[in-house]
Amino acid sequence: MVNIQKLKYKESLKDKCGIFGIYGKGIDVARISFFGLYSLQHRGQEGAGITVTDGKNLKSVKGLGLVSTVFDEEKINSLKGFASIGHTRYSTTGGNKLCNVQPVVLNLKNDDFALAHNGNIINAMDLAHKLPSDVKLSSTSDTEIMGWVIKNSSGKNWEEKILSSFNKFQGAFSMIALTKNKLIAFRDTYGFRPLVLGQLNGSYIACSETCALDTVGAKFIREVAPGEIVTIDEKGINVVDKISSLKKSFCLFEYVYLARPDSIFNKQLVHQVRQRSGEILAHESPIGADIVVAVPDSGTSAAIGYSKASGIPYGEVLIKNRYIGRTFIQPEQYIREMGVKLKFNPLKKIVKGKRIIIVDDSIVRGTTMKKIIKILRGCGVRKIHIRVCSPPVTDPCYFGIDTPNKKKLIASYLTIKEIEKFIGADSLAYLSLDGLKKASRIKSNRLCSSCFDGKYPMPVEGGFRKDVFETIN
Ligand code: SF4
Repeated sequence: MVNIQKLKYKESLKDKCGIFGIYGKGIDVARISFFGLYSLQHRGQEGAGITVTDGKNLKSVKGLGLVSTVFDEEKINSLKGFASIGHTRYSTTGGNKLCNVQPVVLNLKNDDFALAHNGNIINAMDLAHKLPSDVKLSSTSDTEIMGWVIKNSSGKNWEEKILSSFNKFQGAFSMIALTKNKLIAFRDTYGFRPLVLGQLNGSYIACSETCALDTVGAKFIREVAPGEIVTIDEKGINVVDKISSLKKSFCLFEYVYLARPDSIFNKQLVHQVRQRSGEILAHESPIGADIVVAVPDSGTSAAIGYSKASGIPYGEVLIKNRYIGRTFIQPEQYIREMGVKLKFNPLKKIVKGKRIIIVDDSIVRGTTMKKIIKILRGCGVRKIHIRVCSPPVTDPCYFGIDTPNKKKLIASYLTIKEIEKFIGADSLAYLSLDGLKKASRIKSNRLCSSCFDGKYPMPVEGGFRKDVFETIN
């Protein structure tokens, strides 16, 4: 058994991540991966890494911080090869450690294996207990456990091992693996997290979002289907297998907040989904005001939709410092509180004496919105109405998204009226779940909405969330 005594369970925030992989002979795969990761920076801002293969060995550069902080010209130039995978990572409470920065690499004799993972494995601890005793975990992440489970599964090559281990993993995994001669991309049967395929001249790419394909000049081919395993090598993209999907559960929150507005999933442009959600919200919860304002950037598309449907003009009021990371998921409370002040500066002259509608994508703890309202009150705003383009977040995510545990989710312990009072708004209204699903234009039974309704597509009780392990020593 693996030395599990060195790990303990710890309640914490969790990751959402961006992954990017490319196979292409005669091109600078590390440089292209850098730009791919750069465009996926919104999915994780506290660690990044790239691993390349030259056909013999895998070589990695990893570090804490933004993609542009981790890599420089010298580091990119040191990564020579014909295939690579990369990862951008979000940290957890106290969990922003170099050992957890991906790709995870298993150093094996002549057969190194690397993984870049977006998701969360609920049964990671159970799987860790079943690993052979000679396995020494070097990180506190479920991804490394997945790697060792795959390594110890039957099969004459890596794709067969992935196939034979597939059903052992409970939870969410959109993954790109790198062997010494190919990429293997695979996605859990629920399809929680996105994974798309693209082509760049004669090279092939797998990555989290289509915006990364656009950035590197690649053409979108298709999504990796839920339950599908594909290899990417000199023969192109080949399907290894497709495990049948009993229940598809694409993450509704990708449309609300996580993905970039210029990405497309399930044929739906994220910007348009958000705009429609704003329109529906305007019909569901109308209110008189002088101006519709977005909490930038994730509230912008929805605010445009709200303005369009309500006929109330849209205006920029909160000027965002875009060089600061997202605040609701910063690890410590004092950083979050400082972050709001650093992040938004209102146009005082524009809002003085006005009745404004602030449109935001979601309310998680309520502390950010409370601060924004306080700042705006200080500017002499007459009325502040909050319109939220998603339903109340009442339950934690077990599928790779950075929501706090239930007792820290404000909508799990306060009513909407109480939240309105807590944040200091003149009125507060949320989009209905039906309204959000309608905006997505995806069949309701193909979506995960667990954090809004507590109905999980698989048992999660006692389940583990990503990076809930903490090394004691
Ligand atoms: S629980 Fe929420 S955040 Fe997690 S996968 Fe489901 S919809 Fe997405």
